[in-house]
Order: sequence, then C-alpha cells, then structure tokens
Amino acid sequence: MKEIWVYIETFNKKVKKVSLELLTKANELSQKLSAKVVAVYIDKDDLDDTISKYGADKIVHLYNKDLQFYDSQIYTNALYNLIKDDRPHILLIGATSVGRDLAPRLAAKLNTGLTADCTQLDLDEDGLLLQTRPAFGGNIMATIICPEHIPQMATVRPGIFDAKKLEKIPEIEKIEFELEKNCTTKTLEIMKKNSLLKDITESDVIVAGGRGLSKKEGFDLLRDLAKELNGTIAASRAAVEAGWAPQEIQVGQTGKTVKPKIYIACGISGAIQHIAGMKDSKCIIAINKDKNAPIFKIADYAIVGDVYEVVPKLIEKLRVLKQ
Ligand SMILES: Cc1cc2nc3c(=O)[nH]c(=O)nc-3n(C[C@H](O)[C@H](O)[C@H](O)COP(=O)(O)OP(=O)(O)OC[C@H]3O[C@@H](n4cnc5c(N)ncnc54)[C@H](O)[C@@H]3O)c2cc1C
Repeated sequence: MKEIWVYIETFNKKVKKVSLELLTKANELSQKLSAKVVAVYIDKDDLDDTISKYGADKIVHLYNKDLQFYDSQIYTNALYNLIKDDRPHILLIGATSVGRDLAPRLAAKLNTGLTADCTQLDLDEDGLLLQTRPAFGGNIMATIICPEHIPQMATVRPGIFDAKKLEKIPEIEKIEFELEKNCTTKTLEIMKKNSLLKDITESDVIVAGGRGLSKKEGFDLLRDLAKELNGTIAASRAAVEAGWAPQEIQVGQTGKTVKPKIYIACGISGAIQHIAGMKDSKCIIAINKDKNAPIFKIADYAIVGDVYEVVPKLIEKLRVLKQ
C-alpha cells in the first residue's frame, strides 16, 4: 500500500498549524491514491492527541531523551534513516523556517526531487504529485512533477490548506534513535528575532497595513488595535518595500498566505497579489478612503474613511466594551 507521509513540526510540545493543514491535504490525496497517511514527528516527549484528531492512519514518533532543539543534521539523519529503505510515495513538509532547512537536506540525502513553497497540490491520473508554486518572482505559476524518484517531496506554505478535524485511531510506533556524535553544529538557544511579532500564519486576528498608512508610525496604531483584539500585525508589499514593516509579515503572493478569523486591511488597495494571500480569511474588514478601492469587492465590512480617524475610534470602542 502506498503511503503519504507528513512531517509534523513541533515547538514547545505544540504541533505547528501547517502540519495539521498538510495532514488534511494528505487525507484528501490519499483517497485518490488509496494510500495510508503517516505522520512522523521528532520530539523528546510524547505529544497530546492533536495529530490523531486530524486524520493520521499511523503516527511515528522518533525520540531521544537528550533532544533539545531542532538541529539540521540530527533531524535530517533521523528521518533519512527511517525512510531510506522503505520509501513513502509522497513526503510533505511545512514551508516554515525549519521545513525550509530540513526538506532540501533530506531530499539531497534521499537523492530525490523537492518542490519548495508549493501553493497547490494535486495528483495526475498516474498518481504523480502535481506540485504548483509561483515562479519567476510570482509572475507565473509552475506545476512541477518528480516522475523518476520517490518520495515525491514538497514543502507547502502555511495557510494554503484548511486543517479539518478527522478522527482516526492511528497505529502508533515509537522509535528511539541515536544522536549524532560528530555533528558539526549545535543549537544552544532559540531566540525570537522580534518579540513583538507573532507568526501571522498562526494568528486568528490580523490587522494589516498598506501604503495608505503613509508612514512607519502607522503600524504603532495598528499594533494597538491588534493588541485589543489579541491579534497581530501584517503588511502589504508596498509597506514592506517602504521599510515600514519586515518582510516576514508580508501577506500575499510573494509573502505569506493567511486565513485568520478576522483580517482588517488598513490603507490597502486590494491588488490581486495581495488578495491571493488573504482572500480566504473568514471575515474581511477593509478601511480605505477610496470608496472604489478593489479591496471592498472582497470585504465583508467596508469602512470608507481615513485609517487615522477610523482605527482610533475602533480602539476606543473596544476598550469601552472591555470595561
Ligand atoms: C510579482 C508580484 C508579486 C507581488 N507580491 C505581493 C505580495 O505578496 N503582497 C502584496 O501586498 N503585494 C504584492 N505585490 C504588489 C501589488 O501589486 C501592489 O503593488 C501592492 O499590494 C500595493 O500595496 P498597497 O495596497 O499597500 O498600496 P496601494 O496600492 O498604493 O494602496 C494604498 C491604498 O491606501 C488607500 N489610502 C491612502 N491613504 C489612506 C488613508 N489615510 N486611510 C485609508 N486609506 C488610505 C488608498 O486609497 C489605496 O487604496 C506584488 C506585485 C508583483 C508584480
């Protein structure tokens, strides 16, 4: 029986949302392939039952009591040793910082192909994985196949697929592995680059700013609104290019794809490349002083006005509501 494997990324004993999104996609693909879905994670400790709630037929837990942090060599070798002989048909990994480090190393060791940063996955009639991703700076979408080697490996951006609950009773296998003795690197500590920034792909509420803010300080105001809603800030590419926000919080075709419960677009026109990254948000609120701004076409709530007048009023209202 063919197998579709999903690498489950964990941090502080929690499963990254993208891994659950990939489990959902793997289940969808498994129906076409009649394949088994296998989730694999590497952690010192057992996780709770999150993985089984998202549809794994089997969970493989690789562990060693001395494991501390993610380590490129240790993780690559552990996974390589696990799958080198009995290779799965497909292996999916989240395109996170860890996934982007791990997947190419693993693909090279396995002598197989890898399509990084996919935004779409499907199967052709022969069971080949159709791996679609933006190419040439996002100007075209390319569909890539790996017909000669297995596993067919892809990393997928967070937020592309929905994570849907699917209760299964998985078979569980725990395998202890030896830590590499001659690692050339050692992770001593993991520090957040910017403690003010949360991962926009994991946030339920996003307040995003665009060129309409007209200055960097505009993001301080958005941060105040985000704080009231227990959310985080994001930006359009124009705001990033202006130097008002870091690239890691850019939403869109060449940024991140997000699907929060609430997306508040402030001074963002709604260019197609921006919309590509946020159109599946559950509720879109747009604030723009141009009543004809394209963003209003996809907005659930349209507020025609100046961000510097509307946002302080929203913050004030929220503070009153909380009293
Ligand atoms: C290959 C390619 C990839 C791209 N990838 C991305 C991507 O990943 N993400 C992305 O965002 N863009 C991307 N872009 C750029 C995209 O085409 C747009 O240029 C960009 O999204 C515009 O950003 P913006 O909406 O902030 O700015 P603008 O389009 O300039 O819009 C600013 C808006 O603010 C409004 N406004 C002005 N002042 C105020 C005010 N005081 N109050 C309220 N509203 C106000 C204006 O009416 C206007 O609608 C890409 C482009 C290309 C060619």
